[in-house]
Amino acid sequence: MKRDNTSRRRFLQSGAGLVAGMAAVSADSGRAADPPSSARPAANAPSASPSGAQTYREPAQEVPVLGRFEVIVCGGGAAGCAAALAAARQGAKTLLVEREGYLGGTCVMALVNVVLSTNGADFQGVWHEWAHTLQKLNGIAKLHRSKNKHTVVGWWLRNSVDPEMVKCVWDKLLTAAGVTLLHHAHLAGAIVEQGQVRGVLVETIAGRRALYAQRVIDCTGDAAVCARAGAVCDQGYGGSALGMGVDLIGLRSSGQESVLFESEGGGGTVAKRPERRVGFRMREVDVLDPWGLSAATQKGRQQIWGQGQVVGKPYLILTASRLGVRSTRRVRGIATVTAADAYAFRKYPDGIARSSWEIDIHPASADPIPVSLKNVNEEYRQWQRRLAEGEYFDIRYGCLVVKGVDHLLVAGRCLSAEHEAQSSLRIQQTCMATGQAAGTAAALSLKQNVTPRELDPLQVVKQVDQDRAAVEPAFELCKELPLASRPS
Ligand SMILES: Cc1cc2nc3c(=O)[nH]c(=O)nc-3n(C[C@H](O)[C@H](O)[C@H](O)COP(=O)(O)OP(=O)(O)OC[C@H]3O[C@@H](n4cnc5c(N)ncnc54)[C@H](O)[C@@H]3O)c2cc1C
Repeated sequence: MKRDNTSRRRFLQSGAGLVAGMAAVSADSGRAADPPSSARPAANAPSASPSGAQTYREPAQEVPVLGRFEVIVCGGGAAGCAAALAAARQGAKTLLVEREGYLGGTCVMALVNVVLSTNGADFQGVWHEWAHTLQKLNGIAKLHRSKNKHTVVGWWLRNSVDPEMVKCVWDKLLTAAGVTLLHHAHLAGAIVEQGQVRGVLVETIAGRRALYAQRVIDCTGDAAVCARAGAVCDQGYGGSALGMGVDLIGLRSSGQESVLFESEGGGGTVAKRPERRVGFRMREVDVLDPWGLSAATQKGRQQIWGQGQVVGKPYLILTASRLGVRSTRRVRGIATVTAADAYAFRKYPDGIARSSWEIDIHPASADPIPVSLKNVNEEYRQWQRRLAEGEYFDIRYGCLVVKGVDHLLVAGRCLSAEHEAQSSLRIQQTCMATGQAAGTAAALSLKQNVTPRELDPLQVVKQVDQDRAAVEPAFELCKELPLASRPS
């Protein structure tokens, strides 16, 4: 298998403007054209059906309809919650479908409870509301401006959140906006007729059910709807289908009593609580392979248990219920954020969100790309310096509009982007910003009776700018941000 030798080092070797080689994914199968086989445990592999066939033809069935909505948002993570909130506030009858019994996505299910680590250009709209509400519940630590230990250039804004309060805050915000929530519903298919998505199929405790909608927004991180709807997706880099390294995270006690951490370092602690994070990084994991995903989850947990923190002080409190996955499918939209956009800090009139984190690639393979950026060249350091001073690149509206399937939008870490750009824009506050824009666009397109593809992107920009301007920054520090301005 080819190694995923992307990242900062490649940037450094070849200069700005790399064009990512992408492994195209056959969408309806949802699998890479050239999938890796390494993570598949042969001993556990299922045998073929009794007749020796490798496939099973599922009998056609009548599927009961569970509901009809104007907008269905699939996935209740950072992007999905923001999308549902925006759509509902624009007056659309909105449903959010989530496989877990809570909202918050990766922040909660994978215990990635660090949501700030950028220059703050990407703190927009819904993010401030969410942070405000967390503040009231004492669920977010004070915002810090701290030096980045990896980059040595400039400062970043950092803090952490309490994952339990994150569940609570999304619940409050979405319920107040009138969003209908459907938990414990696993997306099993997309209803597509004449090139238009009409709804989704979900597996529920009652069995398979159909949900109809006029607009569907895929915020599942893995492009679960788009892949099933037949949209083209990309994954991996440079001929490898693997995205990035995955982590299993746990929480352990700090061994100290009553310590209120303010999370100076960003990643180590839970907001204002004494727990600390422990984690185990894995490479060569194909998380779109059911056997690979299962084996990696088991391995990660065993590694954390093996760190001797199960008993005694400090003790292990819990391990995440799901792996922390940085990248899987990236849906092809009618526009794509390119690596060149990211490296050149490009702004566009139809920019609906800003990305202001690094090109943060955690290799999926054993390629020894240094974690410390002290080894990188001056060109990349210059790029970081500009980022630290307030630069960002725009994510265009077209990156949310799925190519080839009408009425289908995408937001969050699986939107239309090249590998390097995705490694920056997957940050949670950027996911919220793209989610807000997608929800707004879905509702606006309904009001105007046009497809999201036909919708004037500048109207989306105008509406989200207006909605974002109405929200007070959650932290005083945000008011002083030295943001690079948008060119006129
Ligand atoms: C180890 C690690 C460290 C990170 N560090 C940071 C950091 O320091 N700061 C930061 O801001 N970001 C960080 N990130 C990135 C960030 O956490 C994610 O990219 C971001 O949370 C993705 O948000 P999302 O809304 O696109 O997807 P998610 O948060 O993954 O949400 C997707 C939702 O869809 C649901 N879903 C998926 N499939 C289905 C299905 N078939 N049916 C029903 N529901 C489904 C999931 O349950 C989930 O709730 C990190 C990520 C990882 C893995």
